[in-house]
Amino acid sequence: MINILDYTKEELYEIIKPNFRVKQIFEWIYKKNANDFLQMSSLPKNLREELNNTYHFSPLKCIKSEESKDGSIKYLFELLDGMKIESVLLPMKKELIDENGKIIKHARYTICVSSQVGCKSGCSFCLTAKGGLKRNLSAGEIVGQILWIKKHNNIPYERRVNIVYMGMGEPLDNLKNVSKAVKILADNDALAISPRRQTISTSGLAKQIIELGNMNLGVLLAISLHAVNDELRTKLMPINKAYNIASIMDAVRAFPIDQRKRVLFEYLLIDGLNDKIEHAKELVKLLNGIKAKVNLILFNPHEGSEYKRPSIENAVKFQDYLSAKGVTCTIRESKGLDISAACGQLKERLS
Ligand code: SAH
Ligand code: SF4
Repeated sequence: MINILDYTKEELYEIIKPNFRVKQIFEWIYKKNANDFLQMSSLPKNLREELNNTYHFSPLKCIKSEESKDGSIKYLFELLDGMKIESVLLPMKKELIDENGKIIKHARYTICVSSQVGCKSGCSFCLTAKGGLKRNLSAGEIVGQILWIKKHNNIPYERRVNIVYMGMGEPLDNLKNVSKAVKILADNDALAISPRRQTISTSGLAKQIIELGNMNLGVLLAISLHAVNDELRTKLMPINKAYNIASIMDAVRAFPIDQRKRVLFEYLLIDGLNDKIEHAKELVKLLNGIKAKVNLILFNPHEGSEYKRPSIENAVKFQDYLSAKGVTCTIRESKGLDISAACGQLKERLS
């Protein structure tokens, strides 16, 4: 059986005729949340049966979910070959309801998806790194995570959803399938999630950042920087030996970004290691001339990790320094800390 979520509309035009049938199929899958092909009543019966014998669109099943006090929900999915991945639904803004019970502001959501089973980058602070890379996810397995989460949380089709490729895996190590997923998700006949609402986070694969830039998809870029000098960065992230900080910054400078947008730099604060004002000073220098936004993340401890979470006071001092120097900077709320929401942590606990 073939996963039909792996296909762009244009690819299906080559296989299923006439074209409007493909649009109808997309509509049933992505807009009407159909459960199977046989339900697709606007298609001729023989086509429905043919599709049902050839394709499926359920590449994953949920084997566990955990809801955090702050409302984020973490899902553990099993793929058809038994491999496991995680995704997280993060409600960003609560629904606002007036005294008559009318909704005046709709909730907003961010969905954090995995791009690989495991990861080969080997970052010392990250649980996903532990077992190495098992395999890439297909485009349809990435799209499937979002489709499943939207459907099972009754998130209406038109509700605004942001996608962050910040789950398990290194998206730019699976660029072909990730870029395809971006396009499928963006299709107006699919989920219509604009590339400007999709953020690809990378440990800094400079060569692939340039390749991604050349594709001109319009996606947003996030760099997991975490350290301001190569010595420390290589200790934290061995991939830095292949692509040092200077090479990453060059690739970022060449990356096409929307006038109104910025490149996001993620900076993981680890107690006593990279969280001093001297590091903040270096960071300001490094970002000079780049339209950047910094997201400070407090290290999320896990069993067996040698690092410690810094105090919030330290994080605020770091943030204040950056802000005073004109660098836009936020501290990522510890969303889902109580459900172990940093990448790989739910899977690790279960296996
Ligand atoms: N491989 C990509 C995307 C997935 S990781 C990347 O590295 O950017 C998503 C983010 O989670 C990265 O910024 C990563 O550094 C961060 N992360 C990993 N382990 C963490 C932990 N224990 N605590 C907090 N953040 C963590
Ligand atoms: Fe891979 Fe990202 Fe984890 Fe590093 S932080 S091991 S690149 S998933």
